[in-house]
Amino acid sequence: MLDRSRPLNHRPVRPGPVLYWMNRDQRAADNWAVFTAQQEAFRSGQPLLVVFCLQDAFLGARPEHFSFMLEGLSETARELQDFNIPFIVRRGDPSREVLAVAQTVQAGLVVADFSPLRLPRQWRRDLAAAADQMGLSVWETDAHNIIPCWLASDKLEYAARTIRPKIQRQLPAWLTDIPALVRHPFDLPAELLQTISGPGALKAIHDAMADLALQTAPDGRRQVLPPPGPAAAKRRLAQFIAESLKDFDRRNDPNLPVSSRLSPYLHFGQISAQRVALAAQTAAQSDPALASPVASFLEELIVRRELSDNFCFYNPDYDNWNGFPAWARQTLERHRADPRAYRYSDSQLENGQTHDPLWNTAQLELRDTGQMPGYLRMYWAKKLLEWCASPEQAQQIALALNDGLAIDGRDPNGYVGVAWSIGGVHDRPWGERPVFGTIRTMTFDGCRRKFSVDDYIRKGWYRANG
Ligand SMILES: Cc1cc2nc3c(=O)[nH]c(=O)nc-3n(C[C@H](O)[C@H](O)[C@H](O)COP(=O)(O)OP(=O)(O)OC[C@H]3O[C@@H](n4cnc5c(N)ncnc54)[C@H](O)[C@@H]3O)c2cc1C
Repeated sequence: MLDRSRPLNHRPVRPGPVLYWMNRDQRAADNWAVFTAQQEAFRSGQPLLVVFCLQDAFLGARPEHFSFMLEGLSETARELQDFNIPFIVRRGDPSREVLAVAQTVQAGLVVADFSPLRLPRQWRRDLAAAADQMGLSVWETDAHNIIPCWLASDKLEYAARTIRPKIQRQLPAWLTDIPALVRHPFDLPAELLQTISGPGALKAIHDAMADLALQTAPDGRRQVLPPPGPAAAKRRLAQFIAESLKDFDRRNDPNLPVSSRLSPYLHFGQISAQRVALAAQTAAQSDPALASPVASFLEELIVRRELSDNFCFYNPDYDNWNGFPAWARQTLERHRADPRAYRYSDSQLENGQTHDPLWNTAQLELRDTGQMPGYLRMYWAKKLLEWCASPEQAQQIALALNDGLAIDGRDPNGYVGVAWSIGGVHDRPWGERPVFGTIRTMTFDGCRRKFSVDDYIRKGWYRANG
């Protein structure tokens, strides 16, 4: 079996329970990190436990988004417990909390899942360094990408066309079936479990939900989100494959509900991208008419998604101006002083009160449902470039709205989506225009030629007004 793990410090694995620190991949099934931890625990006949750390605030996430995560986690906790794998919930700094649990149980190995983002990487670095002092080995397993991010490519990729051949060459080896967990035969002593988990994970999750119920989002609204959790994710996948995958090539029409709407589940790791890809491939094998839509879907799910992780992993400036390619910074610099026809306050933007009814409808969909059709996300971010005083401001406002309102926000795909729209990342120069320079533009009339803008606005009006 290929190795999806790499060491984060230089300590050898020693005898003792194996601990999986779950962070990005919040599921029991199809999770290479928990599978790897179980394999290591088997090798030495040791107990296995999973720890999750809750932070009180994570990059501006809304209470509803925490709630989506917590409900998914309670499902995952129960699933793991059915495999005799204790699930421990702690509150606080993950590097400290994971280490404290590891110390108490005298762990022999800690396995972490992988994230390319700044803060989660810092946690992993801190944990690995502190564990090193204790002689404890820490590994990282990429359970999110199909090809581990550091192996898909060893450098920052320029565009989809440069990473695609690398992915296509390696994919057959990695896109294999995923082994199932088995009931873990080695128990953690009951008193030890009691010491580290207190009243238990479900109680900790329940308490965190109760705290959230007391909180309202800063705007006092409550988004209507899709049903959370791994089981809901599997139902969504099955429905997508049965009903809308065949029309996926028409996904740029926001009036057609043909895209998978799996991004919230993929973001919280409630479903595995590898499982989704296998399901789409199986569908194509049984129906040749699905070959083209499945190829388009896998391009988004694998090439585009793994390209986003590549960007954030190799570019520390993934969320600021310095992350834009040189040609984009030069052209935006030349047009910095161009007059802007419209300017709006943060509140006008957040509440969809601009002159552009298409933008307003998309923004209100994001504000009220935590989601926005993919095609409109590009239009939405590009209009911010047109209306803000500077590209830096446009990027920061786009990220604040996306991270604050989108249920799939705070994700590499979001940082890259914004940087693509505003800063030409993974794109190329187009015709020169005011404000945009040679960054690709999108216009209201261009949207009109692609889909019925009026229908989209009408549906948005009904959604907002009942
Ligand atoms: C300004 C902007 C902001 C964005 N913010 C986010 C975000 O916060 N979180 C997020 O997951 N995606 C983001 N995207 C990417 C993309 O729009 C969404 O992934 C997609 O719309 C989610 O809907 P879906 O699950 O129905 O996707 P589908 O079209 O069904 O695609 C399946 C999966 O492939 C991946 N995918 C699709 N399109 C892209 C893409 N362009 N880049 C990378 N991966 C992709 C996603 O994981 C998605 O769930 C953003 C794009 C832009 C232009």
